[in-house]
Amino acid sequence: MSLTNTELHTSLKKIFGFSKFKGLQENVIQNVLEGNDTFVIMPTGGGKSLCYQLPAIMKEGAAIVISPLIALMKNQVDAIRGISEEPGIAHVLNSSLTKTEVKQVKEDMTNGLTKLLYVAPESLTKEENIEFLRSVTISFVAVDEAHCISEWGHDFRPEYRNLKGIINRLGDDIPIVGLTATATPKVQEDIIKNLGMTDAKVFKASFNRPNLFYEVRPKTQNVDADIIRYVKQNQGKSGIIYCLSRKRVEELAQVLQVNGISAVPYHAGFDAKTRSKYQDMFLMEEVDVVVATIAFGMGIDKPDVRFVIHHDIPKSIESYYQETGRAGRDGGEGHCLAFYAYKDVEKLEKFMSGKPVAEQEIGNALLQEIVAYAETSISRRKFILHYFGEEFDEKDGEGADMDDNARNPKPKEEAMEEVVK
Ligand code: ADP
Ligand code: MG
Repeated sequence: MSLTNTELHTSLKKIFGFSKFKGLQENVIQNVLEGNDTFVIMPTGGGKSLCYQLPAIMKEGAAIVISPLIALMKNQVDAIRGISEEPGIAHVLNSSLTKTEVKQVKEDMTNGLTKLLYVAPESLTKEENIEFLRSVTISFVAVDEAHCISEWGHDFRPEYRNLKGIINRLGDDIPIVGLTATATPKVQEDIIKNLGMTDAKVFKASFNRPNLFYEVRPKTQNVDADIIRYVKQNQGKSGIIYCLSRKRVEELAQVLQVNGISAVPYHAGFDAKTRSKYQDMFLMEEVDVVVATIAFGMGIDKPDVRFVIHHDIPKSIESYYQETGRAGRDGGEGHCLAFYAYKDVEKLEKFMSGKPVAEQEIGNALLQEIVAYAETSISRRKFILHYFGEEFDEKDGEGADMDDNARNPKPKEEAMEEVVK
């Protein structure tokens, strides 16, 4: 199946109400419509969902969408139903469905009403589901958050490992669309190998965020005072402060409050009600600052976050990129400030020491990269993008002057000393 540009734009407008494609979407969608394997690498918020949703709706049969999080699947199904008059157009298939619900899903699938079937990987391993899916027409399989396949990614899920075998059982030559926001070459290799996508056409968007300013400051005993000063200088702006431990989250939130800053804590130790209360307070701008562990942020879309501070260095450059990526979504200023002390790295190493050796090796390698980032005297943007396999021109690239090293280059001798070290 192949469509003219006009036909594709008409469908985009009619189905989703958007007047133009974002970035590489149009090329990706053409490739999916043609029935080819497709690999999409775009930063979070880049618009990956549309890359499979639109072709799924236009093609014959149903697309199977594999996604790791039940909550995210539910959101997407609700969103698709919201733009259609046919509630059966999208379904989730998982173990929480009642018998009646499962019957409805199967009926809609069999009648060709369903265009998108969201499935968690563990539901896809169930023999009765495989049997059923073999009996219907499948347009393609989309593997969202495909980095879950790789131990080098930030969210490895063993269930993702066996997907290829299952997909093979669903039918002959079903096209695969892999999608991820993880741009590291290692993770990409793993995905391609694991899903057997060596012939896939790869679409990779730039990961450069030119409106974000990157800065690293040494972390001293006075880090709390440094953070208070920073937040006070930026009063009224929304910001996230990440800490490694729950204890530190609560302490720092309190210290900020005592100093007249409106802040709430957030970590996975609070019950769901408390978490959503604090999250809403931040989203509704009842408070300026949320002090949080990495439990905060997934799926949160506050466009005007003006700063992301790391009280502790994160475990990898990729985590750092994801967490800082929550700043400046609206294209406005976004300050990414990390406080760095080598002893925090040792803490992270200690955390890992109880884990299996292979995991430790990977963890330590990732940690060395973030240490190198913190200690570098070259353009931080260049450093991050290089990590993602992307060339960046530190003289003329977009956002070239947007980091501490670019603004205040170290004298040559000092920079050389560092290189030698
Ligand atoms: P990703 O999965 O890459 O993180 P999403 O698919 O969740 O990104 O899309 C991010 C946002 O961009 C969503 O709010 C979506 O509605 C919006 N979006 C996607 N494509 C377009 C488009 N062509 N025009 C306008 N908005 C779009
Ligand atoms: Mg997505």
